[in-house]
Amino acid sequence: MEVEESSPSSPLSSPSSSPSSDSIDLNFLPFLKREPKSEPASPEHDPLPPPPPPPPPPQAAAAVAVAYVDPTPATPDLSSPAVMTPLQSLPPNPDEDALFAEYCRLASLYLLSAGAGAIVQAPTPEAAAPAVVQPGSGSAVKKRRPRSSELVRVSSLGMRDQIYFRDVVRRARITFESLRGLLLKDDERAEALGLPGVVGLGSTDRRRVRADLRAAALMADRDLWLNRDRRIVGPIPGISVGDAFFFRMELCVLGIHGQVQAGIDYLTAGRSASGEPIATSIIVSGGYEDDDDRGDILVYTGHGGRDPNLHKHCVDQKLEGGNLALERSMAYGIEIRVIRAVKSKRSPVGKVYFYDGLYKVVDFWLDRGKAGFGVYKYKMIRIDGQDAMGSVNYRVAERLKVDALSMRPTGYLSFDISMGRESMPVALYNDVDDDKDPLLYEYLARPIFPSSAVQGKFAEGGGGCECIENCSIGCYCAQRNGGEFAYDKAGVLLRGKPLVYECGPYCRCPPSCPNRVSQKGLKNRLEVFRSRETGWGVRSLDLIKAGAFICEFSGIVLTHQQSEIVAVNGDCLVHPNRFPPRWLDWGDISDVYPGYVPPNHPAIADLNFSIDVSRARNVACYFSHSCSPNVFIQFVLFDHYNMSYPHLMIFALENIPPLRELSIDYGMIDEWVGKLTM
Ligand SMILES: [Zn+2]
Ligand SMILES: [Zn+2]
Ligand SMILES: [Zn+2]
Repeated sequence: MEVEESSPSSPLSSPSSSPSSDSIDLNFLPFLKREPKSEPASPEHDPLPPPPPPPPPPQAAAAVAVAYVDPTPATPDLSSPAVMTPLQSLPPNPDEDALFAEYCRLASLYLLSAGAGAIVQAPTPEAAAPAVVQPGSGSAVKKRRPRSSELVRVSSLGMRDQIYFRDVVRRARITFESLRGLLLKDDERAEALGLPGVVGLGSTDRRRVRADLRAAALMADRDLWLNRDRRIVGPIPGISVGDAFFFRMELCVLGIHGQVQAGIDYLTAGRSASGEPIATSIIVSGGYEDDDDRGDILVYTGHGGRDPNLHKHCVDQKLEGGNLALERSMAYGIEIRVIRAVKSKRSPVGKVYFYDGLYKVVDFWLDRGKAGFGVYKYKMIRIDGQDAMGSVNYRVAERLKVDALSMRPTGYLSFDISMGRESMPVALYNDVDDDKDPLLYEYLARPIFPSSAVQGKFAEGGGGCECIENCSIGCYCAQRNGGEFAYDKAGVLLRGKPLVYECGPYCRCPPSCPNRVSQKGLKNRLEVFRSRETGWGVRSLDLIKAGAFICEFSGIVLTHQQSEIVAVNGDCLVHPNRFPPRWLDWGDISDVYPGYVPPNHPAIADLNFSIDVSRARNVACYFSHSCSPNVFIQFVLFDHYNMSYPHLMIFALENIPPLRELSIDYGMIDEWVGKLTM
């Protein structure tokens, strides 16, 4: 599929000709340094607003919209009554799709007459490719492109397009996360050297700006933010309901929610084809005194009226900006993406953002808030037929960890198929049929290597390091890894490598050494479960961060000769050399640095061994196959240093929300995959 180069030629998208009221558009302001918050400051600066109007009924609200004059319209034509009048005369409660279609029709009429940007029909999937700069084309730093004012809706995508967009999004997320990791590591190094800031990646006064903001800025400089060339109404291609994010900047980079601080993202009146603001997404942070969040039904409080320092309401809110945009989206039946922020200890910023899917605004009114001032409230109802909400799955999984049976009285075949052999229990759950197959295998948490492969190999390559405390750059094990450690302080793999050397039994460093990660076993509560679609599968009750270790692929390791004998008998063999080198993806920043070369050191030997999982196996055997996987294999050595027999360690390729199935790319699909997964 071709990814088209966007060419925003509309005068509306030029910053100079559009003094937009979208006052925190990232194109025009430096990155904000404060901790993101979801409640926006009022876009207006009127210290003494007039008393609020009484809560208008929906028809009156339409009248408000007609009367509303954008304070900084881009051109006078935008509030043309020729566009507005037919919309207002629509009968109440029309079919919502018809309403949106009518909006599009009028907008395209306007487009024909005015020749400028407008709301248009959702294009075909081929035409909906986001403006990703293709690898290699991002060498020159470009002028940052403003967000488009073109509203589009992407209707149902075919399977191939879904995978395509998922990969596009994953690539952008890996770039963001890899840059962030490198910037943090660079900061640590600078700090260790006592430098105020090393000129390398990003800003020179680096420590005053958070790494996630710098990573996003580097991507913006290369035009790598997704969906800048159009504002998508409804689902974002490549983003699934339930996806988890740790940084609000990441939501901006991907085009899910384009505001770093404001809770309501909307196309401003000055840039909208009809001259009315249109809301596309909100962030629900919880903890707002006037919000009422019951999951499927949400009463969301509008913005404004707060003291920016005290975060308290001090004046009445007005029906303008994002507040008016939500009302207009209600009038046109435009769906709103809802992102919920949930507190999480696993997040570097203390919370995680779940994309919870699409809602429709069904009602709004002016209410008296708990602080005594007027607040606009919007009743929103979740559209049926979507996957479970990420925030709900998160809560369910947290409860399952402490009291599984009250949530699921039946279906558990075992609370720990590893019988204590893993560092965390691995549950077995089937509420689909009476298959109990995983109980028939011996659980093998660690692979058994052939004695010929490991005998005398423990000290091969120089044995271990001599560090008394935790290892640091310069130690023997760092050299072995090419002069760096593969993991960050939190044990997250910074980038995939052909081979990772962890500290082992011959090292003198303590177990707390940050170069000991995958050897410590599971850190997440995994469960093997039965699914109607994929047979046996694996999911986690914990949110798994991208780059985190998940589990090892275990079984009885056979030499090449042994494999040939066993294969004749038709047993289940896993061939490590058949897994595609997905580790190459993790850490790939070639979109930002075209000269980026994936690590080629330490080199790995040809792998001729196989793993027999016909009698003994572990949880990894039940991972489903996917050609758009969320985990990958990283080869690791630690307890012996025979590089012909590395451990197959499985790491997360993206943030994996609780209860989402883990999937791996097995490469060639053959008989054994079928046997394993069904
Ligand atoms: Zn060391
Ligand atoms: Zn160590
Ligand atoms: Zn070591």
